[in-house]
Parts: sequence; C-alpha cells; structure tokens
Amino acid sequence: MKIIPLSEGAFTVDQTKKFIPFDLAKDDLHERSRGSLLVEIQPFVVITSEDILLLDTGLGYANDSHTMQIHQILAYHGILPEDITKVLMSHLHKDHSGGMLLPDKKTSAFSRATYYINRQEWDLALSETSSYHPEDFRNLNTSQIHFVEGSGYISDTIEYIFTGAHSPYHQAFRLKEHDEVIFYGGDVAPRMMQMKNRYKAKYDYQPEEAMLLRQQWMEDARQDHRTFLFYHDIKYPYYQFKG
Ligand SMILES: [Zn+2]
Repeated sequence: MKIIPLSEGAFTVDQTKKFIPFDLAKDDLHERSRGSLLVEIQPFVVITSEDILLLDTGLGYANDSHTMQIHQILAYHGILPEDITKVLMSHLHKDHSGGMLLPDKKTSAFSRATYYINRQEWDLALSETSSYHPEDFRNLNTSQIHFVEGSGYISDTIEYIFTGAHSPYHQAFRLKEHDEVIFYGGDVAPRMMQMKNRYKAKYDYQPEEAMLLRQQWMEDARQDHRTFLFYHDIKYPYYQFKG
C-alpha cells in the first residue's frame, strides 16, 4: 500500500477553536496565544490494490479562485478528486470534515467516492453545534454515504473500529494487505509522542479511555508491525515503532 500525507500546514488552535495558519519558519512559537496547541492538519491518501482511499478531509480551505487546498495537494500527486473511491471518516469535528463538500457547501468534494461515517456520529454532529459545523457535511448526497455502526469490515482490506473516547462515536481504521498493516487512530492517536507517554488530553471526550486505547494499540503494534498515521503531527505523518 502507498501512503500519501496531504499536509495542509501547521496551525495554532486555542479555546475559540479557530485554526490560525502558523509558519514554522517565521512565526515565533512564544507569541502564540496562551494555552493554544500547535497542530498539523493532515489527511491521508492510501492507495491499495482496489481503492484510492482518503482518510478524513481536512479544513476545506480554498484559494482565491475557489480551488480547495486538498484538491491542489492531490493534483500535485497526480490524483483527481474523482479518483478517490472511498472517504473514511474518523469523526466529524470541523478540522476533519471541512473538506467533505466543495466550498459552496452543497456539492460533494469527491464526486465518485462513498463516504463511510459512523451513523451516531452523524446524528450527533448535526445537532451539537459547539463541537461540530453541520454546514460542512449536512448537504452531502445520501446516495454517497454508507453509514456504519460499531466495528466491522468494509472490504477484505478495510476494517473500521469503534473507539469513542475522543468524540462519543469516533472510529479508527485498520488497513491490511498481505503482511502490511496501516493503522489510522484519528484523533484518539493524533501524534507520535502520545503513543509513548502516558498522556491524558483535556480535549478528549473521555481522556482516560483514549489513553488506554493508545496503550492497547502499541501492544497490538508488536503483533502486526503496523504503520501509524498521525493526523496532527508536525514532524511524523506516519511512523512504524520498532521492537
Ligand atoms: Zn477531533
């Protein structure tokens, strides 16, 4: 399988939940607002023998001519939006769901893809407007949505795993082809460092649960030698722990 990180850049985010672009080369780390986090925003393409998968969709920002940033990054890698066959959504917070629709917020951004979304996450996200931006996905054509619940398989290669912990109905994805395993823990496992340290994040819905899941996944990695994908890591888009 081939992994292509689609970095939209680094951002600071504080209690207002606004994502402000941050230039690592120029901006002074000490000047960002108190208590703010510095995060990468980084969806992934994974190319398998059957699919061109997109894992989460980024912020949905567009340039002055209304071209989506994620479409530009895909083009750089020779991929058209309509080449994406499946969009796998970990959850629907705005930094993951902003790119599900075109900037008009009416038309699917990936016209030929099926979007895999946890049904309860969808229902919650439509009504809970403090953590979610329903306009970012509400108008997605239902014929393009495949709702999933709990855990299970989308294909021989693609497993979805209910986690909760970060948002009430968050899910992770495990991709397996031959002996190769790629694991996307979404926002339960957003950064490499959090896999190694006991760390409770205050932004999680259930911080303790999230920490225990990360520990479990590190145990699992000893067995399947998975490569982790990290959506919010400034330095390591993906990482395979040794030993
Ligand atoms: Zn989130």
